[in-house]
Amino acid sequence: MSISERPIKIDFHTHSHFSPDANTTMQEMIDEAIKVGITHLAFTDHVDLDADLEATPVNWDFDRDASEKLLTHYKTLYSNQIKLYQGLEIGVQPHLSDKNTQIVSSNPYDFVIASLHAVDRRDLYQRLLLSSNKPVDAIRKYYEDYYSSVMRFKAYSVLGHLDLYLRYHPELAEVPYSKYSDYIDTLLKMIIEDGKGIEINAGGYRYGLGSSNPSASILKRYRELGGEIITYGSDAHTPSYLGHEYEANMALLVSTGFKYICTFEQLHPKFHKIVY
Ligand SMILES: [Zn+2]
Ligand SMILES: [Zn+2]
Repeated sequence: MSISERPIKIDFHTHSHFSPDANTTMQEMIDEAIKVGITHLAFTDHVDLDADLEATPVNWDFDRDASEKLLTHYKTLYSNQIKLYQGLEIGVQPHLSDKNTQIVSSNPYDFVIASLHAVDRRDLYQRLLLSSNKPVDAIRKYYEDYYSSVMRFKAYSVLGHLDLYLRYHPELAEVPYSKYSDYIDTLLKMIIEDGKGIEINAGGYRYGLGSSNPSASILKRYRELGGEIITYGSDAHTPSYLGHEYEANMALLVSTGFKYICTFEQLHPKFHKIVY
């Protein structure tokens, strides 16, 4: 069935072997995406300039020109079956704004996810957030750092997996929302004003949270404040997670007040009515 005959199904957060934490080729991801009915697929491989460089010296960057060349080839090859988009998941921290802005301008991206993976240059994955912070302060610090990061860096489309800390410290879900809601409001108000969005990221399921990031209270608040731009991403690093929990996520979006899900082309959002 050609792409125009299929119901729309969007996955705008996926990784290929260009990311150091994924091994699957773009071709394998595309083949599987078509099989599971995805009509719009963005590759968002990682650039993270200063996440745990000293502790774990992984180069969180890749040959972005080679990736662009290959994806351009696949865009034409698969044009009847799937729409492909060139994206990037860029690690933001307050001190990386200038370098990140430069990186985004180096290739013609359709879509850029700004993800805060590291606080004080340590990847949240290391589970160190609570070693020097009380639970409520850890959460506030995460949102403060996010705010400072995207106050200076504007070359992005959506914030990646807000409340990511829950993947590594699920006990932080016990901290009452009211203790840090003003920090979230400040961040959300700024991104709405800037014409940016957020994503709903199914990776939380993979980490056993039983839900996506961010949690429903943040989605609801974003919508209440007037936020409309939202993308869905499986955060698949392997083919089996493409479109993960798509229906559950669309249902959650509808129940929290969203009618549209976005794709991005040349960094401009396009709204699609949610169907699932
Ligand atoms: Zn991420
Ligand atoms: Zn990711």
